[in-house]
Amino acid sequence: MRFSRLLVPTTKETPNDATLASHIYLIRGGFIQSVGGSGLYNFLPLGKKVLDKVRAVVKDELDKAGCQEVSLSFVTPASLWEESGRYEKYGKELLRFKDRKNNEFVLGPTHEEMMVNLVRQSVKSYKQLPLNLYQINLKFRDEIRPRFGLMRGREFLMKDGYSFHVNEEDMKREFDLMEETYRKIFIRLGLEFRVVEADSGAIGGSGSKEFMVLADSGEDTIVVCDNCDYGANIEAAVRKEKPCDAKAPEADFAKSHTPDTTTIEDLATFFHVDPYYLVKTVAKRALYDEGRSEIVLFALRGSDELQEVKACNAVDANDLVDVTEEELSEVGLEAGYMGPTTAPEGVRVVFDNNLKDASSMICGANEKDYHLVGNSFVGLDADYHDLAAVQEGDLCVHCGSPLRYTKGIEAGHIFQLGTQYSEPLGCNFLDENGKAQPMVMGTYGIGVSRLLAAIIEQNHDDKGCIWTKESAPFDLQILVSNIKDEEQVALGEKLYEAMKAKGADVLLDDRKDRFGAKMKDYELLGVPHAVVIGKKLADGLVEFVSRDGMIKEEISSEKVLNFLMERF
Ligand code: ATP
Ligand code: MG
Repeated sequence: MRFSRLLVPTTKETPNDATLASHIYLIRGGFIQSVGGSGLYNFLPLGKKVLDKVRAVVKDELDKAGCQEVSLSFVTPASLWEESGRYEKYGKELLRFKDRKNNEFVLGPTHEEMMVNLVRQSVKSYKQLPLNLYQINLKFRDEIRPRFGLMRGREFLMKDGYSFHVNEEDMKREFDLMEETYRKIFIRLGLEFRVVEADSGAIGGSGSKEFMVLADSGEDTIVVCDNCDYGANIEAAVRKEKPCDAKAPEADFAKSHTPDTTTIEDLATFFHVDPYYLVKTVAKRALYDEGRSEIVLFALRGSDELQEVKACNAVDANDLVDVTEEELSEVGLEAGYMGPTTAPEGVRVVFDNNLKDASSMICGANEKDYHLVGNSFVGLDADYHDLAAVQEGDLCVHCGSPLRYTKGIEAGHIFQLGTQYSEPLGCNFLDENGKAQPMVMGTYGIGVSRLLAAIIEQNHDDKGCIWTKESAPFDLQILVSNIKDEEQVALGEKLYEAMKAKGADVLLDDRKDRFGAKMKDYELLGVPHAVVIGKKLADGLVEFVSRDGMIKEEISSEKVLNFLMERF
């Protein structure tokens, strides 16, 4: 490709809503263009090229793993969403609309219902299973805060795959195969990543893993062990139970007057105890289907923090929201003095696993200015769940080493679904005995357009993008410094034609612009390698540049073609 013919509207200006390097450079480099600043983007020729390259790697590995590509309608009938029960549950991210005949539709944010519908119409027998179908297609989610460019768009490109099996065991085999396949994809794309255990929602268990591209700008906090390969999203992370070195407070069960002592810190000072022996009681309003809601008390050790996703899963709610003091007093609760043992009638209480059989505990008395000391939960029959957020320094369940936090960008997600969709949608097969059974499913996603942002978050410097080998828009860029110098032009053309003939994807910067401007564009666009043909050609030398680190090597102009032939 000749730069002079290419539509790459590079600019020096940083878009005013952009803070992340990937957002800034993808716009400044003319890869993408914002459409009205609302999570919608046009892909310009270079952006489309990179997107296609990433997509090709994804497709290649999936096809090799035996998956089959299909393409489903982006507009999906609301009736399917009603069948699965998600039409109501999904909330405002689901963009709903009506056609001229008043039929209701949804722009697909994910395609479980659509794929199940496809399969239930065409697969009848165990002989046709297993099956893994995928597409690389547009998705629309009316995100509340679209931001960071391609990272969190409203319309975005996703690879979504769904597998169908006769039993759980076979689904798990495919799940492992997809994990391996995703690893290959991320390695080929040159990414530093970690596969972590993820929140599986109401399904629970370790049936869900996320592929996290490591980057300081990542929106997800992940907990990792440096000694073994344990890693988990903070929402799903677990830890080895840790004992407390501090002495337990000695007291018989009693009510204690604790005026103006409403925080864990104040209480710890007041009683001279470690927060480990205090009960932290957090009130939240849990939201359920059909507008139903209730106040729930979550009790955990004062040394722990509530992990809200874990808490939400514990009560099977759609969401948890904060409550005001007025709402608390309406149900007879006193902010700052709440406790799990004497909660008013009808208020649901959930205990953290770590409180099981705890003794010498101090908790709120559900009465203003009073706490209860000397509480023992030994043998207490309560609703126990894992509610605590793993903290840095907590110990790994697998090897006992300290855990630490790091940041990641969720670029892929694999999930063991079971029969969650096949059952309500009646996606059944006839087994060997002619008995109808629901298919067991897995679902597997990759944020293809988000990957462009993730690649740049991990690979950039203060001048621009540094694409990895398999994601780069071109293999090589040739810069002719002075377009009026016939000798320079002649060598540039020769290298360009020869490399093209060899099958390399080459960009020849043949523009009339000043050399400085061309070099700036090279740095901004981030093609991995360049040949710079400049003044030194008179001495028989050209420069070979590696974009990562801007490493420059002088090469004889006579030998450069051979050098390139070997290299690419
Ligand atoms: P997130 O937690 O980041 O909102 P998600 O868990 O809702 O993502 P999934 O439903 O698992 O996303 O979708 C599969 C993949 O699609 C994600 O792993 C992510 O890479 C990508 N993705 C999700 N939402 C967006 C978005 N708004 N813009 C770009 N990519 C997205
Ligand atoms: Mg996800």
